[in-house]
Amino acid sequence: MNILVPVKQVPDTAELPKIQPSEVVSGNIKATQILNPWDEYAVEEALRIKESKGGKVTAISFGPADAREAVKRAIAMGADAAVMLSDDAFANSDTLGTAKLIAAAAKKLGEFDLIITGKAAVDGDSQVVPVALGRTLGLPVVTYVAKIREIGDGSITVERLLEDGREIVTVPLPAVISVVKEINEPRYPTFMGIRKATRAKIPVWGAGDLGVDPSEVGEAGAAVKWTNLRKPPAREVKCEIIEGETVEEKVKTLVDRLIAEKVI
Ligand SMILES: Cc1cc2nc3c(=O)[nH]c(=O)nc-3n(C[C@H](O)[C@H](O)[C@H](O)COP(=O)(O)OP(=O)(O)OC[C@H]3O[C@@H](n4cnc5c(N)ncnc54)[C@H](O)[C@@H]3O)c2cc1C
Repeated sequence: MNILVPVKQVPDTAELPKIQPSEVVSGNIKATQILNPWDEYAVEEALRIKESKGGKVTAISFGPADAREAVKRAIAMGADAAVMLSDDAFANSDTLGTAKLIAAAAKKLGEFDLIITGKAAVDGDSQVVPVALGRTLGLPVVTYVAKIREIGDGSITVERLLEDGREIVTVPLPAVISVVKEINEPRYPTFMGIRKATRAKIPVWGAGDLGVDPSEVGEAGAAVKWTNLRKPPAREVKCEIIEGETVEEKVKTLVDRLIAEKVI
């Protein structure tokens, strides 16, 4: 099985409080950059399929040329190869532009059986890229996959995790699936894997390499324009310590207070 895994480099959300909207708009976010946590599950699932059926796992990342943490982490986990998609013409792409670039890279890489994405990117969080990618490539898309039941001859059967239960879906291959965290437990990179990632030659493909029209991607091709970005106002929180001689007294006061506030 030839499996492609689009992986996104994102700011570590643990550092969210110190990230300023102006940094996001300029694309110059000073926070630590990591592999999108959802994409670790996608890489892990691709590696498990490769381990049971053979084949190759290739990570694809779109972003600035030096934004290599995501692809390096994918290689350190066990991916066989990686490619970066980077060009000044790609800056400020919207989700459809992102999908078009990943689709062009998939075509350039040759024949593949499956594309596995994360459920969402923790920064943009639109969950649109996998669907737009499948649509652009003319392939079936199955989102929120929590389990791969079977990969048969030319088809895949999966379980989708929905709010009110699980849905079992079979689609022909090649296909695009997006995965949720219930699907597996991602492995930690090995020491050898980290060394391999450090030495890996990761090609950078621009508009010319991908054969994409620069007017259809990047800011020029974006149908969605970011015009404003702001943090929600901080919520005012009042803290009150419930005093009392005994635990019973404290509990009674707490319950009275909760009833007065109409919480219970
Ligand atoms: C400086 C800057 C300006 C921007 N301007 C705009 C704008 O004007 N209009 C607009 O609509 N958006 C804009 N964006 C957002 C950007 O286009 C989105 O981050 C991108 O399209 C991916 O969407 P998402 O994060 O919602 O991914 P999701 O759809 O939530 O991601 C789902 C999955 O798709 C894959 N994926 C997503 N992104 C990538 C990637 N880059 N590389 C590889 N795999 C990926 C991953 O597997 C991921 O788990 C801007 C971003 C930046 C940093």
